[in-house]
Amino acid sequence: MKVSREAHAKINLFLSVGDRRPDGFHDILSVMHAVSLSDTVTLEVEKAPERTISLKSDGDVPDGPSNLAWRACEAFLRKTGIDGYGIAIRLEKRIPVAGGLAGGSTDAAATLVLLNGFFGDVLSPGELLDLGGSIGSDVPFCILGGPVLARGRGEKLTPISPAGKYHFLIANGGAPVSTAEAYRALDEAADGKDSADLFPDPLIRALKDGAPIDDYLFNSFEDVIFPIHPEASRARDVICSCGGTPLLSGSGPSVFGVFDDLSLRSKAKKQLEKENYLVFECESV
Ligand code: ATP
Repeated sequence: MKVSREAHAKINLFLSVGDRRPDGFHDILSVMHAVSLSDTVTLEVEKAPERTISLKSDGDVPDGPSNLAWRACEAFLRKTGIDGYGIAIRLEKRIPVAGGLAGGSTDAAATLVLLNGFFGDVLSPGELLDLGGSIGSDVPFCILGGPVLARGRGEKLTPISPAGKYHFLIANGGAPVSTAEAYRALDEAADGKDSADLFPDPLIRALKDGAPIDDYLFNSFEDVIFPIHPEASRARDVICSCGGTPLLSGSGPSVFGVFDDLSLRSKAKKQLEKENYLVFECESV
């Protein structure tokens, strides 16, 4: 039987990175939002003499056990003890890889949700979130979607009830950024300095009221990523000059802009496409 699901990309409307913890992770304070840009995850689940997993993708991602969707599938089968099925995973990738948009995490989350649905909700919602957290920090968010306040290493989640819809443009200049390296750069830059003491409360209020969010966007990574990724700072400048409010997405290098006026968003899209960026118009979901 075949089951399929859209796996939505994530942007951080607010991302304040705190100190490095003894376990190597950083505490973060973030407001994440799912957007309509998505991959499509399809699973073909068939009875089989023994447990098998396979994966095909049309994107530049591993097609073996290191793919996060494969890891999610393995973790689900191990945790539930389900045996005697062959699972073929197919990924249609549209989310730029290593782009700060949680592309791998969202494929893993969609795989978990599809498998749990297929096998009659064997795991409770809480168990599914915990299993997601064991695969990657952003996976629990990707299971929940929507706007969410994330704390801890990103796994302590408080959903926010949104009242409005927001229009985004995401631009990716192609050069990937390793999340681990971006955190290392942040550690070096922060050496001896106090970490950002900012809170997303005004942003959360605006989301709940359906009010403009432009004044409350923040990302700790901007200071270290923009200077070394000129294509990211160029995307920021184009979005700004077309009337949008830009912000680096996650650890970059993707940059998104919030636009009220859709004709200005189209103008920014055309300009960035002319400069060979991958550009996506998308909405909050
Ligand atoms: P985040 O915003 O969560 O840090 P990202 O968007 O920057 O993530 P991903 O697209 O998730 O980065 O890719 C990060 C790494 O994970 C890449 O090196 C990629 O090869 C690997 N990877 C494994 N599985 C996947 C997948 N299904 N889709 C994308 N990347 C994957």
